[in-house]
Amino acid sequence: MAVYLDNSATTKPCPEAVDAVNYMLTENYGNPSSLHGLGIEATKAVTSARQAIADKLGCEKEEIFFTSGATEANNLAILGAASAMKRRGNRIVSTAIEHESVIQALDELEKQGFEIIRLMPDVKGNISVSDLRDAIDEKTILVSMMYINNEVGSVLPVEKIRKIVTLKNSPALIHIDCVQAFGKIDVRPKKLGADLVSITAHKIHGPKGCGALYVKKGTIIHPRTFGGEQEKRLRPGTEAAPLIAGFGAAVEALTDFGEQSAKIAELNRYAKEKLSALEGVIINSGDAASPYIINVYIPTFMRSQTVLQWLYSDHGICVSNGSACAKGKKSHVLTAMKLSDEIVDKSIRISFSRDNTKADVDALCAALKELLEKYPK
Ligand code: PLP
Repeated sequence: MAVYLDNSATTKPCPEAVDAVNYMLTENYGNPSSLHGLGIEATKAVTSARQAIADKLGCEKEEIFFTSGATEANNLAILGAASAMKRRGNRIVSTAIEHESVIQALDELEKQGFEIIRLMPDVKGNISVSDLRDAIDEKTILVSMMYINNEVGSVLPVEKIRKIVTLKNSPALIHIDCVQAFGKIDVRPKKLGADLVSITAHKIHGPKGCGALYVKKGTIIHPRTFGGEQEKRLRPGTEAAPLIAGFGAAVEALTDFGEQSAKIAELNRYAKEKLSALEGVIINSGDAASPYIINVYIPTFMRSQTVLQWLYSDHGICVSNGSACAKGKKSHVLTAMKLSDEIVDKSIRISFSRDNTKADVDALCAALKELLEKYPK
């Protein structure tokens, strides 16, 4: 069995989610738009998942719009908000360390003439509140920022955005990519003052291919796709009822935040202690980063891609280098943090879930020790 330490890329689906997907595929397979009994049963399953997610976010189920994942939710939020808000200004404030789905949506808007401000991180991936304050003005129509960075775990100052937007008399909508936060800390869009929040099922032990966008009641964004009445026409197309039911089941199966956080914090402390004992290893993640993610430089002559392959082929250990979506491209996050090429090329990401134990960390550290002895820099 693999030692799975790549939970920021995706998580193992929990039995509850697997059962829910299976049931929808084999028994409750109606189209939620159909008016007969099977259609009604499928609608009930979708509604109950919507309610479970809304309960977790502390919002109303009418504020949840299902998508194919957070990539789509981010695109819908950003492109949909820019289109709806373009008469009120031209500036969009974000950061240089967002997920590719935000980066590329913003690049697209830049081509259309929007002014995109990309705040730079410090050496640990932190974004400064004063930079954020300086960037937001009365012509800013959107602030899009992730809660927790997926490569180094830095926690971004999303809680400060609403106050700054109000102070600056800005009409901006606030979009927060909560993919790496949801299910790990208590994410409440209302408390955050967010208008738009993206989440995805497969990072919380649900199925791949299903996410959601929270849209605060009364917020207007324009759809990106057309052709049906589903999701109040904001995201038309037959609902992926099996995946949605799996998402709902995964949300209901989330464990108590407090208990889980304490467990992961201890695992993080243990891992950092063991990793730091390996000669030349440098922890790139900051002390205040999410305990679920440790980004670490491994001083071998091999680049991180080869290290990953070796860890899996020789030891059955799964870790990653940066974001899974970047597929081996140089990390834009570590680059933005102004780390040297040597560090950018040879860093790996270890990411935990509730399923991990100290034995997983022991296996990884033993393998890394062997690697450093066999293939030093
Ligand atoms: N945003 C962040 C921060 C992520 O980590 C990811 C996935 O890696 C995404 C968005 C995209 O999510 P999905 O895989 O559901 O498209």
